[in-house]
Amino acid sequence: MQTPLVRLLHDKGHTIYSISSSATVYDCAVKMTELSIGALLVIDNNKLKGIISERDVVRKLIGCACDPAAVLVADCMTKNLVTVPPSTTVQEAMRIVTKRRFRHLPVVENGKLLGVISIGDLTRWVMLSQEQEISALTGYIQGETR
Ligand code: AMP
Repeated sequence: MQTPLVRLLHDKGHTIYSISSSATVYDCAVKMTELSIGALLVIDNNKLKGIISERDVVRKLIGCACDPAAVLVADCMTKNLVTVPPSTTVQEAMRIVTKRRFRHLPVVENGKLLGVISIGDLTRWVMLSQEQEISALTGYIQGETR
């Protein structure tokens, strides 16, 4: 739980899936489906502008019965992006996504985007660490009782 996110990014890779704010929400939905992901960072001229997730599409478009091909990402994305530095621990990141109720955390250092950690990455990491701890403790107990 005290592992910094930089370690998770090292294992996961630094690939960043993004879209421009001038693309349509339809393009965005197609890209998310092709990549099997739930969110895209919105980047214009190498600048991080926000995030658009499947929840934005459902909440902001389906509700008003708008045509996704006629709405721009700029008008559907979340602009007040919460980012974290790579030194943020898994525990701190878990707290943030739980409290804020979102599933994606861009990792940024000195203005440079390093990658994105999702709630799935965090859950996978916690499960793996717990399995390793249980295995180590089981080995220790069995070794002691032999
Ligand atoms: P998600 O659970 O990540 O699919 O996103 C739920 C809502 O939170 C959507 O409106 C997203 O645009 C927004 N959102 C997702 N990640 C972030 C983030 N890191 N900072 C701010 N808003 C976000």
